[in-house]
Amino acid sequence: MDMSPVATDIGTVVATRMPALIDDLKSLVGIPSVAFPGFSSDPVHRMGEAVLELLQRSGASDARLLDIPGGYPAVYAEIAGPAGSPTVLLYAHYDVQPAPLSQGWDTDPWQATTGADGRIYGRGAADDKSGVIVHAGTMQVLGSKPPVGIKILIEGEEETVSHLEDFVEANPALFDCDAFVIADMGNLAVGRPALTTALRGEVSCTVRVRTLRYPVHSGVFGGAAPDALVALIKILATLHDAVGSTVVPGVSGTEWPGADFDEAVYRDSAGLLDGVELYGTGTLASRLWSRPSATVIGIDAPSVAAASNVLIPEATAKVSMRIAPGADAERELDLLTTHLASVAPWNVEVEVSKIKAGWPFTVDMSGPTVRVATEALAAAFGAAVETIGSGGSIPLINSLAQASPRADVILWGAEDMALSRIHASNESVDPAEIEKMITAQVLALRSLGGQNADHRRAADTT
Ligand SMILES: [Zn+2]
Repeated sequence: MDMSPVATDIGTVVATRMPALIDDLKSLVGIPSVAFPGFSSDPVHRMGEAVLELLQRSGASDARLLDIPGGYPAVYAEIAGPAGSPTVLLYAHYDVQPAPLSQGWDTDPWQATTGADGRIYGRGAADDKSGVIVHAGTMQVLGSKPPVGIKILIEGEEETVSHLEDFVEANPALFDCDAFVIADMGNLAVGRPALTTALRGEVSCTVRVRTLRYPVHSGVFGGAAPDALVALIKILATLHDAVGSTVVPGVSGTEWPGADFDEAVYRDSAGLLDGVELYGTGTLASRLWSRPSATVIGIDAPSVAAASNVLIPEATAKVSMRIAPGADAERELDLLTTHLASVAPWNVEVEVSKIKAGWPFTVDMSGPTVRVATEALAAAFGAAVETIGSGGSIPLINSLAQASPRADVILWGAEDMALSRIHASNESVDPAEIEKMITAQVLALRSLGGQNADHRRAADTT
């Protein structure tokens, strides 16, 4: 399958814009916009201003900063389309994960570098400053009179506690639209276009175990009185069966119906050590995208350095469980906490506290924009579109979908899963993926506008 003639024409225009867009991407990567607590707020604000300036000179002349109470500003713009045309909201985020050198970076994460492979390296080059560039490029190609109404939302705290969800719920009219285009995803591999059709949710809780009133000598008392850490470990060990499948009773999961994830690519991108086996059963796609997976993400107990020969009286773990698309987050959290409270050995004291019930998301594939977007993606890449899932969660999508329930949701982007290494060291993006995603977005918006113009003409003649 080759690119269609229309896609080729748009592709030619996009290609002329790419050198300047890559320069813009590189300067954005140079701003360490980590919105986590404890990091300097100055670069985050500078990044917001830089995105504002980029959007303004890309055609969104009225772009402005939205003050998000309690958080960092979002960049927002509205560009009117032809009368009666649909409105599409383009989303990306400008904040990034931290990039400690202990992760093992080969280059300075805050100095964008072009590798010998042509990829751009640096924190945020893919996640999600590439999304910002895809939207800016789309605006530049469409010009000041886009075929549809466009809203742009570039968030400043997607990677940390987001205050934007509350803001969206309080100001739904700002986010009212016919389609959300979320450019914070990517293809399984470069050149293989993919639409993300489902996101897992995440629920979490802490489990605290107490067995003794105070620490006591492990030689004098060890052997009969259970220590809290061993009891906690026994509780946590019930989250998985012998082959490693998550087995919290009652939690839901299904088989993934779309493309599978290549095992070699998965092993490599996960940084799995040689010889370590994968756990669970079934296709990799099902394990990653449509079944639950429980993880222990922290334990409070004496450190090895501070360890002494005592029975530990108290220990706490934080458990996170990714939940399947379509699952009820409150129900899954109930099942997890009930399970953890019920499996304590030796009648030890257990206190399970709920932390979070983050909902999964499933794209309604019957939406008209989804069909248009799929065709545009196929045309831009000259290849058939795969449907993939994402193990990660984007809680904001549920807030946006509530603000505009009629809107379709398109999840895609330039962050390929094989090589981008988002959140890890040596994060990178392939400029060709950015280029094709701009082409796809321009094509999709043009055909949405064109369809609409056809309808208007039809309406005029009757
Ligand atoms: Zn992201």
